[in-house]
Amino acid sequence: MAIAFFMIEKDRFGGNPTVYTRPLARLIEQLQRLPGVGPKTAQRLALHILKRSEDEVQALAQALIEAKQQVGLCQECFHLSAEPVCEICRNPNRDNTTICVVADSRDLIALEKTREFSGKYHILGGVISPMDGIGPEQLNVSPLVRRVSQQKTKEVILAITPSVEGETTTLYVGQLLKPFTKVTRIAFGLPVGGELEYADEVTLARALEGRREL
Ligand code: ZN
Repeated sequence: MAIAFFMIEKDRFGGNPTVYTRPLARLIEQLQRLPGVGPKTAQRLALHILKRSEDEVQALAQALIEAKQQVGLCQECFHLSAEPVCEICRNPNRDNTTICVVADSRDLIALEKTREFSGKYHILGGVISPMDGIGPEQLNVSPLVRRVSQQKTKEVILAITPSVEGETTTLYVGQLLKPFTKVTRIAFGLPVGGELEYADEVTLARALEGRREL
């Protein structure tokens, strides 16, 4: 059925079988470039945008442009910031001597939500992945070493997802920082509410390895 319809459309309009008027097609195409947005979602979003008032659409467009123009990276920790130095780095109540190293800003946000950490952060901007051509030079590794060696740092906590690339990154960064300070890594283990018997071996091994005294 779908194929037959497609053929008829193509015949009648001589070429591009699009059902969208051009500006709408452009909007859908742009939305579809966003991560996690497939053709159907892009269409739904585009039609929704068209239904909203012109003021609302202006506000959306303005927010997109302003965010892009104004948000850069903190020169200390490389977290997203509209100021040269981010709010976390400027906060005098946060412990300057403990630095938590994460792969990207999303990880920082996740950790901040726990309210368990009151030190500073450092964002690497990814993990070492030779397959994708990402080595330490492509990441914010040198600024981290400089930061740790020049400031009084009591501890660096490595909080990087334990994938193959994440492990490589943790070991590499750990080795670099050990001459300057104490280096720890966060424990990985069982999810809260998870059943021990259903956990995979790597997770169980990590949980055992990361045990601590009661
Ligand atoms: Zn910062």
